[in-house]
This record gives sequence, C-alpha cells and structure tokens, in this order.
Amino acid sequence: MFDFIFGLFSNDLGIDLGTANTLVLVRGKGIVIREPSVVALHKKTKDVLAVGLDAKRMLGKTPGNILAIRPLREGVISDFYTAEKMLSYFIHRVHETPSFIPKIPRPRVIVGIPSGVTEVERRAVSEAVTSAGARKVYLVEQPLAAAIGSGVLVEEPKGALIVDSGGGTTEIAVISLSGIVTSRSLRVAGDRLDNAIVEYAKEKYNLLLGERTAEEIKISIGSAYPLENEAELPQTSVMRGRDLATGLPRSIEVSRAEVREAVSRDLAVITEAIKDTVEATPPELVADIIKDGITLAGGTSLIQGLALLVEKETGIKTRVAHDPLTAVVRGTGVLLEDLKLLEKVAFPS
Ligand code: ADP
Ligand code: MG
Repeated sequence: MFDFIFGLFSNDLGIDLGTANTLVLVRGKGIVIREPSVVALHKKTKDVLAVGLDAKRMLGKTPGNILAIRPLREGVISDFYTAEKMLSYFIHRVHETPSFIPKIPRPRVIVGIPSGVTEVERRAVSEAVTSAGARKVYLVEQPLAAAIGSGVLVEEPKGALIVDSGGGTTEIAVISLSGIVTSRSLRVAGDRLDNAIVEYAKEKYNLLLGERTAEEIKISIGSAYPLENEAELPQTSVMRGRDLATGLPRSIEVSRAEVREAVSRDLAVITEAIKDTVEATPPELVADIIKDGITLAGGTSLIQGLALLVEKETGIKTRVAHDPLTAVVRGTGVLLEDLKLLEKVAFPS
C-alpha cells in the first residue's frame, strides 16, 4: 500500500551529467534543473562560490582568487571534487524547491554518465549521489539514455544507431536488445567546434576570441552543410575579440561560409567515426540501421545541416531527435517509470 503511494508520488530523480549541461528531472514533474556543468571555487579555500549558469558567466572572467571549473570537460570526470560538489548542489536544490509532490526521504536516482568513464569514476558518482541522500543509485550510459529519450525501442532485437554529440564528447553507439553492441567515444564535439572558430579567427584575422564568443557565433550562424533555404538565413555575424597585433578590441564580420569552413574538419572526424562504427557493426544490424536511419541527439546535433551532412557521408537517412538537448534526461525519466528496462540497461551496482 505504502509502496504504491510512494511509487506514485516520490522524488525519484533522473540526472544527465553532461560535459556542458547538467539536467535534473523529477519523476511526475518533469525537468526542473537545466544548468551548465560549471563550478566556481575559491582558489585557496576550495569553497564553492557558484554553480551552474552563475558559474558559467564567470568562465574566462575570473580574478586570481576564483577558479571556474568544468568538472567533466572531456567526458571523463577530470575533477572528482568539483563533480561531487556540483551533483550534490543540484540534488539539494531540487529538494529545496517547493513542490506539491509529497517527498520521500530517500529517493531512487538514475544518473546518465558518459560511456567512457572508468569504474573508479562510476563509483565516485554513485557515492556522491548516495551521500546526497539517494536510496538507490543507477548508472546508465548516456547513449542508451539518449536513445530511450529519443523514442528508440532499445529492447528490440534490432540495430539502432544513435549519435549523442554534446559539448565535450560525441558518443556513437549501435544498440540492440537493451545493450550497446558497438560504440565509439570521441573528444570531438561542441567545444572543439568553438575552438576551431577561435583558431580560424586567429589565423585568418589575427583576432583573439573568447570561447563563449565563439560558441555564440557557432549557435547563431554555424552550419554543417548548406541548407536548401540558405539564402534566406542570416549570412553574417560579428566577432568581437582582441587584435593580436595591436592588443586592442576589434570587430570583424564573419560569414556563414567561413564558419562552416572553420568547423568542417572536426565535423568530418565525427562523420568518419560514424562510418567506422557502421563498418564494425554485424551485417544483420546494419540492415536495420539502413532501414530505420540514424538518430542524432545532444546539443551539437542542433548545428544546422548536421543531419544532411551525416546522410551525405554515410548514405543512411538521418534525423535529429525531438529536443535533442533533453534526450538523455528524458530517457532517465522513461526508465524511472520502467524499472524492468532500468534493470537491463543500468550498470550493476
Ligand atoms: P553535454 O551532453 O556534453 O552536456 P549538450 O548536449 O548539453 O552537451 O550540448 C552542449 C553543446 O551543444 C555545446 O557545445 C553547445 O554549444 C552546443 N549547442 C547548443 N545549442 C546549439 C545550437 N543551436 N547549434 C549548435 N550547437 C549548439
Ligand atoms: Mg549529453
């Protein structure tokens, strides 16, 4: 009886521990936290000064005594201490948010983790979540969660190819029977595209851009492949940076074509890896993939024309998941409702 009530109204959580963004979903309520995975620490005392958006605003602008850290930068937990601080900060914030849902003291928590993390890192995540009050922690690899959140029927004896391209990593996985059959994890994703734009501005215009400025340009006019309605779209954006010769601020107008050129090499790394993954996949599953197509998730799949580029390079039809930035956390939401599937896809702990 109690189980039934608690089961319906609990504070079970799903968390997407992303390299760029962390999302938290409350069962029965939806996504309640969507913040950059950034922590600002006092350099000496290591006290947490800010987490999430407030901390992201400090990136690249910190005075000597503050450190703004992205604890998962390249898909591995490069900084245990801050990763734990960030997780427990978000979990506690969820529990402080007023809610009509009666709270259970020790909820079930599912965390989507990058598939490259080691056993030691997995344990660290589990411990951080447990010490934040979870009754039971389940760890699920992000590509699986992304596939589930994108509506892929992962339990079928059928191959499905999912590409989850976020900030720090691109994970490519072929899934069948609730498991990952073949996969690749690349440290080439949104951050690298930002860097490529920084490098481009430096080489071509002798202009030093900040990473956040480069990201804004990527989001406003970045593209992977010329679109059909290309001519109707904004053609230029202004890059504000520092002239490396004079040391003074300077603005330069940059075109869609230039930004596309700047990011093309890194995008080619992604499409090559997708081709490699298909080549390493058993033929029966490849036949399924060709029939059902490739699914793209993660924030980088929002770069215009990426599905077209992947389609052109692989010859396989490709779609972008609905709301790709939330696919992983929505996948954990599905799993909170389907404990049988959860037992199949979670790491044993
Ligand atoms: P992660 O899972 O690694 O936390 P996300 O899936 O949240 O990453 O995606 C973050 C990345 O997506 C960032 O590199 C960001 O710049 C990029 N991004 C977000 N929106 C867009 C967009 N509209 N066009 C291109 N890139 C985008
Ligand atoms: Mg992600």
